[in-house]
Amino acid sequence: MPLKPKPVTCACGHTFTSSRDRSWCERCANAVYYHAKDKNKYKLNNMYITGVIVAVITFLTYVFMELIATPLLSL
Ligand SMILES: [Zn+2]
Repeated sequence: MPLKPKPVTCACGHTFTSSRDRSWCERCANAVYYHAKDKNKYKLNNMYITGVIVAVITFLTYVFMELIATPLLSL
């Protein structure tokens, strides 16, 4: 959904107009958020995704060990 263009200020002090939830600073290439509170939301989202990936890898390792490695070892 397009947002109303609004001036945002990057942590490096560079100010520019943004109309997206997240855009990139032209000077230091850092992410700049339209809503200041979104920064935490994105951080939490990233942590959640990382957690899910770790859980999936752990599960796949367990399945691999149970279904493939254990029968092979017991032959
Ligand atoms: Zn910057």
